[in-house]
Amino acid sequence: MHLTSGFSRREFLAHTSCFGAFYALALRIPLPALAADLAGDSRVSQTPLVDKGFAAVRKVGNGLYATISDPSKGPTTLCNGGFLVGKEAALLIEGFTTPAGASFQMDALRIVSQVPVKAALDTHYHFDHSMGNSFYGANNVPLWAHATAAKRIVDSYSPLQGADQETVLGPLEKRIKDAKSDAERAHAQGDLNAVTGVFQIANSSILGLPNHPLDPAKLPMSIDLGGLTAVLESHPGHSGTDIVTRVPEQNVVYTGDLLFSGWYPVCFDEKATISGWRETLKKFAAFDKDALFVPGHGQICGQEGIASIREVFDDIAAYTEKMFKAGVPAEEAQHRYTVPDKFKNFPIYAWGFTIGPAITKLYSEWQAAKS
Ligand SMILES: [Zn+2]
Repeated sequence: MHLTSGFSRREFLAHTSCFGAFYALALRIPLPALAADLAGDSRVSQTPLVDKGFAAVRKVGNGLYATISDPSKGPTTLCNGGFLVGKEAALLIEGFTTPAGASFQMDALRIVSQVPVKAALDTHYHFDHSMGNSFYGANNVPLWAHATAAKRIVDSYSPLQGADQETVLGPLEKRIKDAKSDAERAHAQGDLNAVTGVFQIANSSILGLPNHPLDPAKLPMSIDLGGLTAVLESHPGHSGTDIVTRVPEQNVVYTGDLLFSGWYPVCFDEKATISGWRETLKKFAAFDKDALFVPGHGQICGQEGIASIREVFDDIAAYTEKMFKAGVPAEEAQHRYTVPDKFKNFPIYAWGFTIGPAITKLYSEWQAAKS
């Protein structure tokens, strides 16, 4: 197991004793190499600025950097991020999963520039993008996020702090015991592994809250970093708190989790909307044909990455429509989807975070439209 130097002994013990299941899950998720067509993209540097295994930082434009995580190498960052460096200021993207992750990215920024940090941005409130936020608090970096992100962090993760692990995981263990089929049992086991990881991380983190709420009604908003303009936008889909950072002059887009590149998308959030998300992806597809996307998870991609996540949603929707029309209950339909060959290498974080809720949410959306 790879350990980062930033972990204390107590954290080390917490991680080694409880991350077994989570690691088993993460280790099945290989990070694909940079695609061949991006290797020829003059914006993208062939050599990373820094590579720590769990994440590598690469130049993807003039003053633009992407931090790409390899979750198989440990949970320091887990999600992707990046930073934008102008002549006068810098913008950091993501709080990551641990303060050590946020600190790693700040160190990478300081390799290339000493300009003041205008802000760090949580692309949304999910744990893997926000549990490292306390690093920014400790370093007086203003932390920006969607106006509802702070409340969602508190509502979602403070109940896990100090909670009894058995109380949190008991219902999931019961689902494994009560499973009516092998598929249902396997899905429940995957969900248990994922929730165990979330529980352990939330339980061992000091919550840091964004202190600069971005009102979606006031977006898009331009930020001048000195010769580099970033535009923040709000789009529906993944979490109800998603903020995208675009650099129109260079056709680079930091999508947060509105794009999973070569992964099944995580759809479990109570504010996730499948129809809204598909509309958002349609908008991304209408961006420039040479747009470069820094996804929330997976490798940097061009428009082919947008096309492929849209195909995944199309496939799930086509399957779900068949089940819906045949009158198969949603509960049953969500376990019967089979992954087509062409997506068989797409990591599934956990069935109950990805495919399952995509199907049940489509059922709800269609039922609501009927009534
Ligand atoms: Zn997310």
